[in-house]
This record gives sequence, structure tokens and C-alpha cells, in this order.
Amino acid sequence: MTIPFDNTEYDAHENVVFCCDAETGLRAIIAIHDTTLGPAAGGCRMWPYSSATEALTDVLRLSRAMTYKNALAGLPLGGGKSVIIGNAQTQKTPKLLAAFARHVEMLGGRYWTAEDVGIGTRDVEEGFARGTKYIFGLTRHTGDPAPFTARGGFEGMRAAVEHKLGRKSLSGLRVAVQGVGNVGSELCRLLQEAGASLVVSDVNQAAVQRAVEAFGAHPVDPDAIYDADVDVFAPCALGGVINDATIPRLRATVVSGVANNQLAHARHGRELHARGVLYAPDFLVNAGGMHNASGDILGRYDPKDAMRRVVHIYEVARETFARSAATGRPPETVAEELARQRISEAKAAATRTRTEAVRSEAVSGTGTRSTAK
Ligand code: NAD
Repeated sequence: MTIPFDNTEYDAHENVVFCCDAETGLRAIIAIHDTTLGPAAGGCRMWPYSSATEALTDVLRLSRAMTYKNALAGLPLGGGKSVIIGNAQTQKTPKLLAAFARHVEMLGGRYWTAEDVGIGTRDVEEGFARGTKYIFGLTRHTGDPAPFTARGGFEGMRAAVEHKLGRKSLSGLRVAVQGVGNVGSELCRLLQEAGASLVVSDVNQAAVQRAVEAFGAHPVDPDAIYDADVDVFAPCALGGVINDATIPRLRATVVSGVANNQLAHARHGRELHARGVLYAPDFLVNAGGMHNASGDILGRYDPKDAMRRVVHIYEVARETFARSAATGRPPETVAEELARQRISEAKAAATRTRTEAVRSEAVSGTGTRSTAK
């Protein structure tokens, strides 16, 4: 396995913690990318990675995306993520979840964990809770995040359509939604209410049927969704769906959905940009769930306030697309820069505060030398 410093996805991550527990067979990695804005927050994924290097690459990439997501969302949170190596269907036991949670607890609140692929809210609320208090997105507090994520996705799409197609209204817009699960189906509802027409796909036929009946959507086979004759392609199922094989097939000129890590590699974002397809960065438009779930970390929760902040995703997306157009750089590059700018400003402010504190201590004679006596 390549050590973290040599991994292609390593980006000056603050901590990478390898977690093992001989009794339960736990093998997990926690990556804390940046805590300038606050404690690192991001879910835990359980996946049967084929190697430890693959798991490391995934957690480094996912944790960095959380830094950008939380910074762009204006949340006082940093970026982190964790992965448990294993099959969630056959290897997930209460003891294993508790063993992982004890490692989170040892970090003393530098990292907060939640659900992700392979880890459900029950695993967090019943399993992780046995080993740590640093868990968030608890349904008994903040409810289902899907409506918040879907609304953020809708607002991001609105901004993208306005920018690329010059349309203020979504009426008559043709949108292909890939994956009509919790978030995808809610996004379909918002789009239908706005007058858009929908093409949908899902590997779950029952979910497709519900979308057909509830939203008058036109169903297509899972692989046929890339060829759909639409204005917008909305990935709401899996990561990595924007890749060498799918890009040439897309007929949409806007890609805007809520799935995490839609670009298989960073170069696929540049490829979309070169082809004149506007990509709404996933970490920007899918932050709605974090606005909601972060209430558990911040110790205050007001769903109306959370939704107000979710709607603001429209403004951040507009600014991102405008800067992208002005500079000729892809939107995801611009969005990353906006996030990094916020982090640099916070770092500079913290340095100023420290310098002023040292100065005032020196003036009042309460510096470390005098108090040490
Ligand atoms: P979900 O499991 O409820 O829905 C995903 C749907 O995609 C399922 O219906 C599944 O059958 C379908 N699917 C799987 N493979 C497919 C394929 N090849 N083609 C078409 N459909 C396929 O998950 P969700 O909570 O709706 O999340 C959807 C995406 O959004 C995920 O990538 C998730 O990481 C991301 N996301 C979700 C939230 C949230 O609040 N739930 C927040 C941020 C990001």
C-alpha cells in the first residue's frame, strides 16, 4: 500500500488514522482533511474495497470534498470522512460498529461521523452511539435529510439552467434523473411542480414505477439514460458516472445532480467544460443535507433556518458559474477556489487574533514568562 503522503489524492490532509480491532476484524481509515473552519464532519462508508490503497484513495478524496462542501455551505465545519473496509451485507456487526466508534471517540471531537453508503441511520444511532458521542444526522433530532438535499439540488439546477440556457423558468425543461431513491424522487417532485418533463432510470423497478405514476415521468433502462434527449442530466444514484464512456453519449448541455463524486476523475470535469457542457459541482449543490444534519454538531437546530440556507445554494452556484465564465476555468475549479478562499480568510483572521492576544499580554505583563513564576 502506498503511504498517505505518496497517494495521488493526498492533499495535505491534517490526519489520516488507521483503525484496527483484532477482536472484531475492524479495518477502517479516518481522514481529516482540514479543520480550519471547525471540527471535521463527514459520513462513514462501508465498502468491500479490493485493497487498502483503494480504500485510502477513496477516503482521501471524499474527505477533501467534505472540506469544500462545508466551506461553500458557509458552515463552521471542516472536512473529514471515514471508510470501513468490508461487506456491509455480511460483515457489519454491532461489535464492529462500536469498535469503529471508539476510534472516533479517541479523536475527542476533531472528527464527527454519520451515515453514508453501507452505513444507515440505524447503524449510527444504535451502533456508533455505543462507542462515541461524536455522531450527527440523527433522525430523531434533524429528521430525513433527503428533502433538504433535493431542494439544494433543485436550486443548483435552477442557477445552472439560467446560466447555460438563459431560462429563468424550468417550465418545459427536459431533465433526465438517474436514480429515483430518497433524494432523486424528491427532486423529481420539485421539478414536476416547476413544470419540467422527466425521464427517469433506476435499477429498482418499483422506484421507477412510483416516479412514473407520481410525476408522469418517462422511464428508460438504466444504461439508456445517458443517451436521453434532454436539457439536463441529473445524476442522483452513484459516483463516477461522468467518465470516458458516458461523456460522448450525453446530449444534455447541463449536468446537475446530487450524487457524490460524479466525476470519475478530475479530468472529466475539464472534458465537460471543453465540450461546452455546464457541470454544477456536486459538492456545491448537494450540501442541503449537511445544512440540516449539522444541527447535531452545532447544538442548535431550526429546520426553517436550515432550509433558508439551502435555498442560498442558488446564489453560490450563480456566483460560481459567473466566475467560471469570466475566467474560462471549469466550475468545479472555481468552486474549490471559493472554498479555499474562505479557509484562507479564516486562517488569516485566527493568526491576527493570536497576534493581538500575544501583544496585549505583553503590554499588560501577563505573558507566559511572568505567569510562570
Ligand atoms: P438512495 O439509495 O435512496 O437512492 C439511490 C437510488 O439509485 C436507488 O433507488 C438505487 O436503486 C438507484 N440506483 C443504483 N444504481 C443505479 C444505476 N446504475 N442506475 C440508476 N439508478 C441506480 O440514495 P439517496 O439518499 O437518494 O442518495 C442519492 C445520491 O445522493 C447518493 O450518491 C448519495 O451519496 C448522494 N447524497 C445524498 C444525500 C442525502 O441527503 N441522502 C446527501 C448528499 C449526497
